[in-house]
Amino acid sequence: MLLKKIFKNNFLILGILLSTTGIVSAQSYETNFAKPLSRVLQEISLRFDVRLKYDADTTGKVVPFADFRIRPYSVEESLTNVLSLFDYKYAKQDDKTYKIKAYEYPRRTPDDGKKMLTYLNSLYPDSASWENRKACLKKEVREKLQIDPILKQRTGSKPILSKIRKYDGYTVQNFALETLPGLYVCGSIYTPLSKGKHALILCPNGHWGGGRYNSDEQTRFATLARMGAACVSYDLFGWGESELQVTASAHRTSAAHIIQLVNGISLLDYMLTRKDIDPARVGANGGSGGGSQVVMLSVLDNRLTAACPTVSLASHFDGGCPCESGMPVSLACGGTNNAELMATFAPKPVSVISDGKDWTASVPELEYPYLQRIFGFYHARNQVSNVHLPNEGHDFGINKRRAVYDFFIAGFALDHKMLDESKVTIEPEVAMHSFGAKGEKMPANAIRDFKQVEKYFNRKADSKANSDIDAEKRAQSWTDSLKISNQEKAAQVKAIILKHIKAVRDWHNEHPYTTIPEGINPLTGKPLSQLDREVIANSAKPASVHKALMDGLRKNLDEEQVEKILDFYTIGKVAFTMKGYKSIVPDLTEKEEAYILGQLKAAREQAVDYKSMKAISAIFEVYKNNCEKYLNDNGRNWRQLYKAYVNKVKAEKAINSSK
Ligand code: ZN
Repeated sequence: MLLKKIFKNNFLILGILLSTTGIVSAQSYETNFAKPLSRVLQEISLRFDVRLKYDADTTGKVVPFADFRIRPYSVEESLTNVLSLFDYKYAKQDDKTYKIKAYEYPRRTPDDGKKMLTYLNSLYPDSASWENRKACLKKEVREKLQIDPILKQRTGSKPILSKIRKYDGYTVQNFALETLPGLYVCGSIYTPLSKGKHALILCPNGHWGGGRYNSDEQTRFATLARMGAACVSYDLFGWGESELQVTASAHRTSAAHIIQLVNGISLLDYMLTRKDIDPARVGANGGSGGGSQVVMLSVLDNRLTAACPTVSLASHFDGGCPCESGMPVSLACGGTNNAELMATFAPKPVSVISDGKDWTASVPELEYPYLQRIFGFYHARNQVSNVHLPNEGHDFGINKRRAVYDFFIAGFALDHKMLDESKVTIEPEVAMHSFGAKGEKMPANAIRDFKQVEKYFNRKADSKANSDIDAEKRAQSWTDSLKISNQEKAAQVKAIILKHIKAVRDWHNEHPYTTIPEGINPLTGKPLSQLDREVIANSAKPASVHKALMDGLRKNLDEEQVEKILDFYTIGKVAFTMKGYKSIVPDLTEKEEAYILGQLKAAREQAVDYKSMKAISAIFEVYKNNCEKYLNDNGRNWRQLYKAYVNKVKAEKAINSSK
């Protein structure tokens, strides 16, 4: 043993020595030709004369077979070969600059987008094959998004509406619509002053500074309203007044992806019940993240008749926020992207607004021709348009707004004579609140915690609520059975029991048997069963849980009452088992009975801390073994007694059945 240790240590020392000498640090087979990542990247930078910027950590990372990954003819292939080991990638910034970044699942390169569109086009050489693909997308997008079970929970409520504010050619009214029980979406409806049925434009918000209160946003909604379209502007999940309900951090979750779309669909539900809305003219327009919502709504809701995603749509970017890519929609039907999803809207009119300085720079070359081809299947190429602003960046400035106005003036026959942004009144944020400046007007049933959003997504929350009700019922009926005349005392006893039942349950649920590693049961020599592991996991709960119950009961009740409660927990196992012993050992002595009763009571008191009946029985089994050992040690032959008892029961049965 000692020798082994010495050897081991010496090898360690030898290893350290070798690694500090030239032999091992040299590039060779023995060292896997390894080099630190930072050095490899430095060498690539020098070799190809490019500048590397870093948005990823290289410290401590080592590249095996480092120099073998270099392709002398291609900096990009070399970078890919090295970076892919660490789930890093590069982004080309210009001919001489690359940025090293962590892998981003929603973002690919325009080159990837091009390849993907070529591949997608190959899937549908004709309109029939396109229709098949479209049917698949319409179905699988819903599945990937898991939206249908949530949509089923829509309340169908009417919104809480504010007073109407009247401006030059339009009005604004705030709303708070309860979309899911306790969850509200807040926003403002911009309505034309003109009479008759208005076109409707749903305006999901993007990640603009100031959200929907942003002046570019207000200007657009008001101007469209002046021209004859009712515009519904609403908060992102976790932004604006939604932040009061679920906090801002709730926005960067996959729930946001689903709930924002549920909100959009619920708003359509409501708006289409209104007599001033023309269901034949229902559009959607949003910029950036709002554009991502437009694409999704166009797939999910057939009531839309026109769509205008702005500085958003691309074949190589799904939107980097979890509210756009939190659910794996782009994996539908073996892989898709926003360009293909938008194509499912054909032949209904689409205008894609793009610019030269964000990921939509590729639209004129890639996404627009792709969309035209699909619209061509319907002989409707003229129904898809692209307004590209090559010198502009990622915003919703005047030229993008003009493109939006033009699209809806043409498609929805809006009154172009009313197009005048100078007539718009920019409102202060507080004027646009439904819940008041600090949420003081929030409805009583409004959820106020993101955790409560869980109830829409899984039945676990429901089952916990049901389990709480069940625990309450048990605690109540057990207490009632004691007929305690002092109400205060009864309430105390019930509270003590309830607290204990819940503590046992919660511990059980939070510490499943899988938290105990597999192993051998030292008593049986057999592998631990699931039940063994459950008992071990349950037994680890703090002793204070048990002590609080027993101390509380003993403080308020006499011993007989305490026992009664313990019997409820263990469904009368003490009496039942005692009866069994008396049948098996008909001449049980007083001393033997006292011993057995003591054991069973000990089992009972221990078993109350276990949730499942199987675990409770397992605890009793341990004490029953003690009883049987005691009988054997005191001149009884338990096995024989038991056998005689079984035979007697069998004989009685035989007599009964022959009668
Ligand atoms: Zn977002």
